[in-house]
Amino acid sequence: DTRHNILLYIEGVTKSFDGFKAIDDLNLYIREGELRCIIGPNGAGKTTMMDIITGKTRPDEGQVWLGSNLNLLNMDEAEIANAGIGRKFQKPTVFECLTVWHNLELAMAGERGVFDVFRARLNGAQRDEINRVLEQVGLCNQASLLAGNLSHGQKQWLEIGMLLMQKPKLLLVDEPVAGMTHQEMDRTAALLTSLAGEHSVVVVEHDMDFVRSIASTVSVLHQGHVLAEGSMSEIQSNPQVKQVYLGE
Ligand code: ADP
Repeated sequence: DTRHNILLYIEGVTKSFDGFKAIDDLNLYIREGELRCIIGPNGAGKTTMMDIITGKTRPDEGQVWLGSNLNLLNMDEAEIANAGIGRKFQKPTVFECLTVWHNLELAMAGERGVFDVFRARLNGAQRDEINRVLEQVGLCNQASLLAGNLSHGQKQWLEIGMLLMQKPKLLLVDEPVAGMTHQEMDRTAALLTSLAGEHSVVVVEHDMDFVRSIASTVSVLHQGHVLAEGSMSEIQSNPQVKQVYLGE
């Protein structure tokens, strides 16, 4: 069975807005521990697809499953998040007036709520967990800085760290390198690559140099369905892709 290690199934999904098919018979399968890049021109349906996975938008038709036993179409946004799907939007939304450490502490709280977090001392395991995530996202030396004083790239990494505190199975990351320096882009590529294996990571990105540097499987979305799938070099030599997207 080729499907036994598939984490996310999207099958035959369609979604129309006022008669316009934003998503049109979309099939996408993300394996456990896989890093996948999604590219596609504006209006291809990338945002709508992410909204469907996270339960923000309901499709008209089709199936969306996490593993073989969680039908995401029967779950609301909070249930889907709790089931292990974390989403990072393009702009960082860290708490600027809190330290990096406290941002992570807050993220660990999840449903417990803001007041309970800072009322009790963390236990050793919880501190270890925060330190582990600080190391993963490369912010060990910034733990006591206010998040508002971080660079743009550091804020993005902190927010990825906040998602990691929830131990997601699947991370959805929207245009992580928009506005980053080249150096920050390289570090982000290394970070996302290092997260794969332990998590499945789906990255929607416009920057082709960045996508190339990640070297994952690339899915090209066009008019709401997958036009091509493969390595970046396979994608780039695909005549249909050249025609509709790369403009060559
Ligand atoms: P992408 O993220 O790839 O740029 P989107 O998913 O945002 O694409 O949009 C796909 C198409 O669906 C676009 O033509 C967009 O105008 C349309 N669309 C998306 N959301 C809505 C909505 N809530 N109402 C009407 N049209 C929408």
